[in-house]
Amino acid sequence: MTDKKMKAIVANKDHKAEVVEHDLRDLRPGEALLKMICCGVCHTDLHVKNADFGDVSGVILGHEGIGEVIEVADDVTSLEIGDRASVAWFFQGCGHCEYCTTGRETLCREVKNAGYTADGGMAEYCIVTADYAVKVPEELASPAASSITCAGVTTYKAIKSANILPGEWIVISGLGGLGNLALQYAKNVFGAKVIAVDINDGQLEFAKKYGADLTVNPLNEDPGEVIQAKTGGAHAAVVTAVARSAFNQAVDSVRAGGRIVAVGLPSESMDLNIPRLVLDGIEVIGSLVGTRQDLKEAFQAGADGLVVPQCEMRLMEDINDIFDEMEEGKIRGRMVIDLENLSNH
Ligand code: NAD
Ligand code: ZN
Ligand code: ZN
Repeated sequence: MTDKKMKAIVANKDHKAEVVEHDLRDLRPGEALLKMICCGVCHTDLHVKNADFGDVSGVILGHEGIGEVIEVADDVTSLEIGDRASVAWFFQGCGHCEYCTTGRETLCREVKNAGYTADGGMAEYCIVTADYAVKVPEELASPAASSITCAGVTTYKAIKSANILPGEWIVISGLGGLGNLALQYAKNVFGAKVIAVDINDGQLEFAKKYGADLTVNPLNEDPGEVIQAKTGGAHAAVVTAVARSAFNQAVDSVRAGGRIVAVGLPSESMDLNIPRLVLDGIEVIGSLVGTRQDLKEAFQAGADGLVVPQCEMRLMEDINDIFDEMEEGKIRGRMVIDLENLSNH
């Protein structure tokens, strides 16, 4: 594979994504080479290319990647040629720290993240650390698997962290790429009743189609008031919205003992009234993607048909248009880059 070139999408210094010719190096021990099939576009990619978490220009974007294994280093035993495997935000941990050894590997201080601190999945090929790439079950189509690799596992894990019981009320705030899967995991895997909150009526209509029990648009009514009046307060809230107001409204929407799981990444602080926090025993939890085991479970729910990601295939060259559409709230479900059908090949 030496001197091989491939097409890849990188973030540039001007906060734009760019399709470039990129080198592909040889495999090192422990690695596998994936011929990429597709890669979903997450709002985190938009944060990365805008340098919201610092300048990483030049890195290949993408952490909802699915590819087919076409080569493995001699020492690799976890993947075989022909397997399909993931390129996830949790790309690699150190394997021996307090987080890696206690089921919290996404918090590893030495972590590598695909499409941020390691080259990601928006390319013709991607080199992965074999033991960290999760195999895709045969019954799960690649575009659906790509959505689950970030949007799915993140929301599945967030709802797990919310400790919601069947029949309890959960607020899903933000019904975009993450939120519509959060809704499906909450209803179809955890048996919860879902209150969908979004400022975009298009997303709320979409959420109704997927079985939302109650919808609230904060531009028309106060989510805290409506949710307290109609449900007595939600048992938990998962906030994927990229807005400070959504986090504050989630605090107002839960009942005593309620849990707020923060997932969205607006570059702001949330308000939390201390007496409300203490006297009502509110818990606030930050939740970062999911472990390899979480991803395996999240894939299985997809393979079992409990969660059906809505994906639209797009060309690599559409990447900046997709980011614009994301900012303008025009996307329903997920846009997925088709890496098998490249426009000018
Ligand atoms: P998206 O753009 O597809 O969806 C965002 C949704 O939030 C949209 O439907 C939008 O209308 C809605 N929204 C915006 N303002 C709102 C408000 N004030 N109230 C209610 N809804 C509002 O984005 P996405 O891909 O679903 O990602 C969402 C966020 O989650 C991003 O910040 C992303 O970086 C973050 N994220 C976090 C993790 C994690 O591990 N914690 C993983 C993936 C993504
Ligand atoms: Zn993501
Ligand atoms: Zn570690």
